[in-house]
Amino acid sequence: MADIINLLPDSVANQIAAGEVVQRPASVVKEMMENCIDAGASRIEVHIFDAGKAGIQVVDNGQGMSGTDARLCFERHATSKIHDTHDLNAIATMGFRGEALASIAAVAEVTLISRRAEDEMGTKVSIAGSKVIEHTAVAAPSGTNFFVRNLFFNVPARRRFLKSTSVELKHIVSEFQRVALANPQVAMRLTSDGATLYDLSESNRKERVLGIFGLRLEKSLLPITVHTDIVTIEGYIGTPKSAKRRAGEQFLFVNARYMRSPALNRAIYSAFEKLIASDSMPIFFIFFSVDPATIDVNIHPQKTEIKFENDQVIWQLLHSAVREALGKHSGMPQIDFNAPPLTSGSFFPPSSFFSISEQERTEFYSALPDSELGRISLPNFSAPGDRHVAVPSRMNDYPSETAARPAAGGNILQIANRYIAAEANGRLMVIDQHRAHARVLYERLTASAPSSSLSQGLATPVTISITPAQRATLREFMEEVGKIGFSLRQRDDATLEILAVPLWLNVEKCAELVASMLDDNEELGDTSHTEAWDAYLRRLAFSAAIKRGEALTAPRMHSLFQDLFACTAPAVDPRGNPTYVLLNEEGISKLFLSQSAK
Ligand code: ADP
Ligand code: MG
Repeated sequence: MADIINLLPDSVANQIAAGEVVQRPASVVKEMMENCIDAGASRIEVHIFDAGKAGIQVVDNGQGMSGTDARLCFERHATSKIHDTHDLNAIATMGFRGEALASIAAVAEVTLISRRAEDEMGTKVSIAGSKVIEHTAVAAPSGTNFFVRNLFFNVPARRRFLKSTSVELKHIVSEFQRVALANPQVAMRLTSDGATLYDLSESNRKERVLGIFGLRLEKSLLPITVHTDIVTIEGYIGTPKSAKRRAGEQFLFVNARYMRSPALNRAIYSAFEKLIASDSMPIFFIFFSVDPATIDVNIHPQKTEIKFENDQVIWQLLHSAVREALGKHSGMPQIDFNAPPLTSGSFFPPSSFFSISEQERTEFYSALPDSELGRISLPNFSAPGDRHVAVPSRMNDYPSETAARPAAGGNILQIANRYIAAEANGRLMVIDQHRAHARVLYERLTASAPSSSLSQGLATPVTISITPAQRATLREFMEEVGKIGFSLRQRDDATLEILAVPLWLNVEKCAELVASMLDDNEELGDTSHTEAWDAYLRRLAFSAAIKRGEALTAPRMHSLFQDLFACTAPAVDPRGNPTYVLLNEEGISKLFLSQSAK
């Protein structure tokens, strides 16, 4: 019997590959625009005819191609961007597979005219269904000009499968927007059947956002910036007010590449929790920069899903950065001394005479008794008889409790063993001691995780029982909590021993706490790991925080104020509830007015 395995001719293989790369006209726009970026263009023109079904033209002023390259670029796996596997680990260009042009040329008629600045003549190559029809020298401006006609002319099934003109155009517009947002330094124009849809000049990130989505957005954008060794996060989130009922302006980019990430979306959504209705969606434009070696862009053919090596840390950083931006924007709840703790609903009053600006916050902070440590003071709650264990400072020696600062600069008062009130610059500030301390601990936990962890060994290990389901993920769990100072050991199938706990944790409570963390772990099982992790940290922060009903000395109250205002997001506790309220004179007099009106 004859052999039955054939090698597919290239043209057929390319057509098969095209099924993945070229799903619709918008895919062509995306691939071509990315090639222009990779070619260092400072200007890109995209002209669309009949939503790309009739034609797509992409013109750039980038580096151009030599005569040979202009022909070779249509070959499968033809790429100038990687040479060996080593390059694969540090991809800095948008494309790298060398399959886009081969795929496009397999299912359309393509004309390419390109010239490098250093060449006298340019090159023209025409190709249709992978067959070269023309290859000649021509006079041409420097840069590259691709014209793609009759997409899917040889794949009638796919052509019929294309959606209405308006749907295809919408896809093209969103691909254009993504490339445009990621590359504000490049001027870009998009036309559709001769009408200009976008004409974006070379600009910065904010101008580009406004150029695309309209100046009306300007007042709604809150900046985000985080710089760490592993990631830089920059961009904008919309104010809670600008959130919408439909998903619209939500963009994540990593190294100037658009990406989708349900997990990172959740980091943002959860930071907005309780600030917007549960069915509305915040606006965001977030740009991550990481070492290309720490991401894998290769896991999805469309390359919009990206895997980060440090996903957990990045999740945390993003979450707190969004929180911080929101906190700065307007953190202040309405004051009500008798009300039960604020639980849900909007706590930002519409016309907020209680609002506090960044400047006011600084003023308030500086009105506090002088601290030798300035804003870097670490939590210290080691007053005599205190159940919380002191956390040694890594940066500085914290003055011991005997050197407790005098309450110079202002009176401080505990109300109902639950709130702490102080006057600052003619305003009354009331903090919720439990929530405020939870915020302080939470930031400490998220800042120190996963590297540093200070723990205290237990003289007698505490045991708790575990279920078979919990046992399944126990090893991971122990590793996780190990990072923040827990040391656990599995004694047998049904028992877990706690050998050490974080320094600041109240030892009596540790069994209860670990048990509830195990429950969280099980419940959250399938959801994102980082989410589960965040849930632990929140729970930890709350359970270790100063309780409601706990009497505090003046020095402790002062340190709590200081520690709170050294946080990045002092206005909210780790669950998003307000930590303090602020009332100015006008606000106080309004309270009297409403009182007398009754
Ligand atoms: P990839 O982008 O993955 O390398 P493509 O099929 O998209 O693969 O492109 C193949 C090659 O063609 C690129 O590596 C590049 O050398 C060249 N090329 C494509 N578009 C342009 C352009 N606009 N300007 C200059 N060179 C280009
Ligand atoms: Mg490419």
